[in-house]
Amino acid sequence: MINTSKSKDLNCSDGSRDVIYQVSLLQGLINGDYYGSVSVGELKQHGDTGIGTFNGLNGELIMLDGEVYRAAGDGSVEVVSDDETISFSVVTFLDADETKKLNEIPDFDTLHNKLNHMVQQRGMNRFYMIRIEGTFREINVRSVYAQEEPYKRLTEVLECDQTFFMYENIEGTMVGVYCPPYMAALNAVGWHLHFISGDKTKGGHVLGVNIADAVLTWDDIDGFEVRLPQNKLFAGFDFTVDQSEDIKKIETNQ
Ligand SMILES: [Zn+2]
Repeated sequence: MINTSKSKDLNCSDGSRDVIYQVSLLQGLINGDYYGSVSVGELKQHGDTGIGTFNGLNGELIMLDGEVYRAAGDGSVEVVSDDETISFSVVTFLDADETKKLNEIPDFDTLHNKLNHMVQQRGMNRFYMIRIEGTFREINVRSVYAQEEPYKRLTEVLECDQTFFMYENIEGTMVGVYCPPYMAALNAVGWHLHFISGDKTKGGHVLGVNIADAVLTWDDIDGFEVRLPQNKLFAGFDFTVDQSEDIKKIETNQ
């Protein structure tokens, strides 16, 4: 009996790795809540791979192999200390349920089609976390400069404080999450990808890509946990207002 319950516990703790841990709602960020609510140190207890942004919208967050990096508005990348806080993030512990070679992916649409084909095979109503590591012929990323209070809405910030970078023939890794359609009120549905170069000097939110040769690591996720901010700004938002147009704008810059 003791052995049985022990193995159950082990199964249980294994299962807890397959949970998406989300800080705040993307819709909170869109409304202008850039206040950090969870520390980098705490975030690391819930995952080793993921995306997000920091207190004050200070750059794009990339979590890779358990380290948290900032791709800042000026294009530079740095390791972020455990006491800095996160205003929005989606992370998990990446376990490979499938790995696959990706060769000659000429553009973002082709990549999306391939990834969405895999989603259709595995089921569109769960979460997926992926990393794509290899050589990129071209990658287009954006970042954003840190904001001062009072915070503007995200679409306004992106109009004036967004920066774009294009890199050619670069080694690196994209990390990204797929959110199922029923997440439309809490996040962006579909894929959201961030990039960091192999030498950890360049990165950002991915807007375009041309992959020469890479390996895709794919993780099926069957759980979702969200941590809501405690601040008054977030508490006062009206989340019944549809923000799908703004989400499209901030994710794809179109
Ligand atoms: Zn992003």
